[in-house]
Amino acid sequence: MTTVKQSPESTEETAPSAASSIDVVNPATGQIIDNVPDLGPADVQAMAERGRAVQPAWEALGFEGRAKILLRAQKWIIDHKEEVIETIVSETGKTYEDAQLAEISYGASAFGFWAKHAPEYLADVKVKSGSLMVKGKKLMVTYRPLGLIGIIGPWNYPLTNSFGDCIPAMAAGNSVILKPSEVTPLTSLLMARCLDECGMPAGVFQVATGRGDTGRALIEQVDMIMFTGSTATGRKVAVMAAERLIPCSLELGGKDPMIVLRDADVERAANAAVFFSMQNSGQTCISTERVYVEAPVYDEFVGKVTEKVKALRQGISSGPGTAEIGAMTFPPQVDIVERHVNEAVAGGAKVLTGGKRGSGPGDFFEPTVLVDVDHSMTAMNEETFGPTMPIMKVEDAEEAIRLANDSEFGLGASVFTRDVARGEEVAKRVHAGAVCVNDAMLNYVALELPMGGAKTSGIGSRHGAGGIRKFCQQQSILVSRLHPKRDVHMFPYTEKMTNRLGKLFAFLYGRGNRDH
Ligand code: NAD
Repeated sequence: MTTVKQSPESTEETAPSAASSIDVVNPATGQIIDNVPDLGPADVQAMAERGRAVQPAWEALGFEGRAKILLRAQKWIIDHKEEVIETIVSETGKTYEDAQLAEISYGASAFGFWAKHAPEYLADVKVKSGSLMVKGKKLMVTYRPLGLIGIIGPWNYPLTNSFGDCIPAMAAGNSVILKPSEVTPLTSLLMARCLDECGMPAGVFQVATGRGDTGRALIEQVDMIMFTGSTATGRKVAVMAAERLIPCSLELGGKDPMIVLRDADVERAANAAVFFSMQNSGQTCISTERVYVEAPVYDEFVGKVTEKVKALRQGISSGPGTAEIGAMTFPPQVDIVERHVNEAVAGGAKVLTGGKRGSGPGDFFEPTVLVDVDHSMTAMNEETFGPTMPIMKVEDAEEAIRLANDSEFGLGASVFTRDVARGEEVAKRVHAGAVCVNDAMLNYVALELPMGGAKTSGIGSRHGAGGIRKFCQQQSILVSRLHPKRDVHMFPYTEKMTNRLGKLFAFLYGRGNRDH
């Protein structure tokens, strides 16, 4: 097989290829493993027409009918686990365990979760009002599918982050077109096969392979766009959505801090720091990207993590238990990680282990621990998205919180302390969409919990009731059942009634402390 490296440009703003296909490369070996069509606007428009045509019948199936197919797909993922893992590992270079833990288990559980919870989250909600003017009237909120949803995904979790959001969108009764990353399109195509084999009506789920231009063409066609990817591309997506006045939901980059307080269980904090910064080669939006440790436990913490990181095995994952750290999925990401490490070292940081890109045909970066870092360094203020752990010593919790909040990002964070009540207090002061105490990242697998970013880490959230309602048109309904022929506020206006109503409003709202 030929060894071909992908061009080192960003996945955003890439021009359409002269050829009409895109090579898919295994980043752990550098080998081309497949190629997919680079679809243009006309292809996407045809898909949109197809998706719209089939959507009413899909919606009419109802929650129960749709759930049957989703539950079959849940079982399909487990029955075809090895094939799904092999596909994910081959196009991402991640380890078998990273694929099983963070993709297979997520995808399978998400099918079951949305099959079960869609009817409850999208049931009509009765509302009570304190307004005298609507006394006796029936008030409720209903949810109907928007129609055709566009989902654009990144390369780091082709099943969880690209395909994962398609599940609630479909459970709500929408048709979906998924534009996976051009770097990792194969898992999405496999999921199309999965749904097809599970009886999904043709056209409800379609995969539009291609680059940024295909993503742009998709935004032109759909009723709502759900985007997961970098903050830079997210901004462009938001602008396009604003021009079309369609809703958009953005899950973007992060620079998650971990705070280790002086009373922490240092052994647990060290294990967690190593796992949550290096798992998936650090290519997780909610990876631990920087660590702040209170001075009294700093040396012990740094000693433990350095020893643990040195013991990690990196390489091509050939099956269960063969490597902890896999390849970097997107070759240009290795350059970013290398630049952040080199710039930190040039600024006075020390590398305790790792620090270099790997040798060989694949794209690897050594698991790296950095100390003597500060916030002037890109390793501390930009998303690194690699297997690095920069650690800073802090005087106290106040300094840790101040530094944790000194970031344009606000996706996730974690706090380690034996005093869980204090941990919760600290968590609430960190400006992030999710904060874990004595843990990290695990909030993602609790599908009942909303997950979304603060600051430039996103707009909106996935999971929980909001994670499916966003794919719906919310409608408020007011029904007047018992009423006179003419209400007192209707025409004609009379001086007497106007004055009476004025007195009533003064009585209701003019005495302070009233909510209406
Ligand atoms: P990216 O922004 O480069 O690309 C994401 C997707 O957008 C790709 O499918 C790409 O083809 C497409 N695209 C590029 N330009 C476009 C345009 N102008 N219009 C429409 N679509 C366009 O991101 P990436 O490098 O693939 O992914 C890594 C990033 O994703 C990291 O920043 C990571 O933090 C973030 N991410 C966030 C979450 C989250 O839930 N918050 C989850 C996973 C990854």
